[in-house]
Amino acid sequence: MKRKCKHDKQFKKGRIPWNKGKKGLQTSWLKGKKGYKPKHSIEEYNKNNPPWNKGLRGIQRGKNAPNWKGGLTKLSVAIRGQIDIIKLMAKRKKIDDYTCQICGKRGGDLETDHFPVSFAEIIKKYNITNIEEALSCKKMLDIENLRTLCKSCHRKTKSFGRPRKRKNDAREAVKGGK
Ligand SMILES: [Zn+2]
Repeated sequence: MKRKCKHDKQFKKGRIPWNKGKKGLQTSWLKGKKGYKPKHSIEEYNKNNPPWNKGLRGIQRGKNAPNWKGGLTKLSVAIRGQIDIIKLMAKRKKIDDYTCQICGKRGGDLETDHFPVSFAEIIKKYNITNIEEALSCKKMLDIENLRTLCKSCHRKTKSFGRPRKRKNDAREAVKGGK
């Protein structure tokens, strides 16, 4: 027995196909209409809206990172975004049993800090100017020179930098890293 599709009924009831009565191949409605211009061409759109990942290459892949021209804070943000550093910091947190090394609070919002040699000191001492140099610097990747801190203790450290400006740093780093 042939199965009837329930849409069959509906269709027959009164829907008229869009091309009813028009024989042959239909062409685009705007074909031949003079003066039609799309408001924004794709090229124009792309020009005004660069791809979301434009300029991010340096942050995502250290080895391809261009020479760094931004400031220390921007460099810091970019380096902290490197997968090797992220992995290292995760390892450190595990070693510290996810416990803040200052107040002893366990869990919560944890961060890692370069200590006793601060991040800024490493940059200065080893004359690091780009991500590549940072990733080949042993001190930067020394797990013994890291400590786990809770967010509020990290904020109180001298090496933390300017917390108020941090929100925009990532975006600025992208611009600077072009
Ligand atoms: Zn703490």
